[in-house]
Amino acid sequence: MGKAAAVVWDQSFLGYDLGGDHPLNPVRLDLTIRLATALGVLDGVGLIAPEAATDADIERVHTASYLTAVREAPSSAWDVGHGLGTSDNPVFDRMHEASALIVGGSLEAARRIATGESDRAVSIAGGLHHAMRDHAAGFCVYNDCAVAISWLLDNGFDRIAYVDVDVHHGDGVQNAFYDDPRVMTISVHQNPMTLWPGTGWPAELGGKGAEGTAVNLPLPPGTRDGNWLRAFHAVVPGLLGAFRPQVLVTQCGVDSHQEDPLADLALSVDGHRAIYRALRDLAETYAGGKWLALGGGGYELLRVVPRSWTHLLATVLDRDLDPNVPLPASWVSHASRLAPGWSLPSSMTDGADPGFTPWDGDADTPVDAAVRNTRRAVFPLHGLDPDDRRD
Ligand SMILES: [Zn+2]
Repeated sequence: MGKAAAVVWDQSFLGYDLGGDHPLNPVRLDLTIRLATALGVLDGVGLIAPEAATDADIERVHTASYLTAVREAPSSAWDVGHGLGTSDNPVFDRMHEASALIVGGSLEAARRIATGESDRAVSIAGGLHHAMRDHAAGFCVYNDCAVAISWLLDNGFDRIAYVDVDVHHGDGVQNAFYDDPRVMTISVHQNPMTLWPGTGWPAELGGKGAEGTAVNLPLPPGTRDGNWLRAFHAVVPGLLGAFRPQVLVTQCGVDSHQEDPLADLALSVDGHRAIYRALRDLAETYAGGKWLALGGGGYELLRVVPRSWTHLLATVLDRDLDPNVPLPASWVSHASRLAPGWSLPSSMTDGADPGFTPWDGDADTPVDAAVRNTRRAVFPLHGLDPDDRRD
């Protein structure tokens, strides 16, 4: 890697706080930055503070009436609609400002790549992939991923690949670009029959004129590292090779972990580390090295998110951590003060082996059936042979 990667971070991101015992607790971001700092991952890295996105930029993917509702909700005496004020998306103080700041962080990361200042940029506060054009959904108020992609389309890029590894379908981003052949969205997620939002089937392929630029790979509940990676490698590299993106945007949700309380895949922190290394390789191989990495879901706040996203930051910065590196005592004591009695890990590994056997088209396991369904739906639209393991 040539130019230094850009890391967007500021404590002000912690203002996106849905309150009470909502699962999306911003402590997960704070604990990640503390862990990455304690391990030296951020040594010498100038953290870039975000500025709030303008209305004009947010309105790239949202309606003006939705922005008005978000602004007015905290002081409104009545229900403002637009998915706000539900248990998933409760209204909170300064909701518009906090949400616009997250969009601004992802935009700043995109800007660093577009100007050529950096080939890679990361904002772990971003990745709010469920927000829809005129309503909040799935803990997400504004869709920073979609705003950043839309901005890139107006600033020198006309082939953008978005890869979403969150356990949930990246429905908001898929919807935003469903009819746009310039953006390929690829989502790898838990089977929608078994998990909200219930979309993300292989037959969702993109609208007229954009067939094949929405890609969905739903995996059975219980899928572990090896099978997840086997499926990913059987689908994603071939499509990126055919699409030839100029930049890779990734949503790096970590709610696919075995211990995540909201979903049922069974990945490990070691699997997450392997995914980030694979995404980096794909950016280098197929996207000219340009990689915009965003956060996403992840609700095991102490044991999983800080370690997995510290691996993400390290991977973006080419400072890959040995999985066996112990957690610094200062971080462990801070985390245990937050959650007395909670069992904390002692190192950056779950002790799992994320090795995998490449897909060969022959086996007939549930994961291989999922791979076959997705390949058969989308590969022919790109001139690829779904049954040829070399494609
Ligand atoms: Zn999620």
